Amino acid sequence: MCDQTNTPRIYDISRTIAPSLAVWPGDTPFGFSYAMRKRDGMAVNLTTLTLSPHTGSHADAPYHIADDGVHPADLPLAPYIGPAHVVTITREHGGIVPADFDGHDLSGVKRLLIHTWVSDLPDNQWPDEFPYPTVELVDWLADMGAVLLGLDCPSVDSFDSKDLPCHHRLRARGMLNLETLRLAGVPDGMYELIALPLKLAGVCGSPVRAVLRELDMNS
Ligand SMILES: [Zn+2]
Repeated sequence: MCDQTNTPRIYDISRTIAPSLAVWPGDTPFGFSYAMRKRDGMAVNLTTLTLSPHTGSHADAPYHIADDGVHPADLPLAPYIGPAHVVTITREHGGIVPADFDGHDLSGVKRLLIHTWVSDLPDNQWPDEFPYPTVELVDWLADMGAVLLGLDCPSVDSFDSKDLPCHHRLRARGMLNLETLRLAGVPDGMYELIALPLKLAGVCGSPVRAVLRELDMNS
């Protein structure tokens, strides 16, 4: 029998997609319009979305940074489902290095979600300056067998980066990434991550509904 008190808790770690959601400067803000409305005498409310694939919590597709990279429809799904470590770091700016995780045993980590101060920003506020991974961090994680790096920040490279070294290193090391997660209120620890990209062809990324499920210690 499944006792209610033993039901694993689910943390929603997605930003809310609404017109007020902050987007990367220059990117298309989220919006919607009506193709049909009940109040106009139609049978249904039918809305039309306008959004960037990088709206809110999302997966980058390799096509984002390389013309020969795959699109969301062709992404492997396994990296987006499975055990994930959530670790809070105190670094507020600059490059995130392995030493930022001193005191945490990440040996064998498959998915690392990095919790920073950016999770505390409201959905309508863009971080002017945020901490970002370094190539050293990507290599450290890849060497341990990691398949996915998740951030609450909006990019795996610095805001003004043009050569995007970590985006390219992640691809070279066979890792995928999630950006703009919201980890506020999630205690550090191990969870099951579920954050599937939509099966979108041709484009450069996909919003995800990212959740963390508490591990069921009875199973
Ligand atoms: Zn992105």
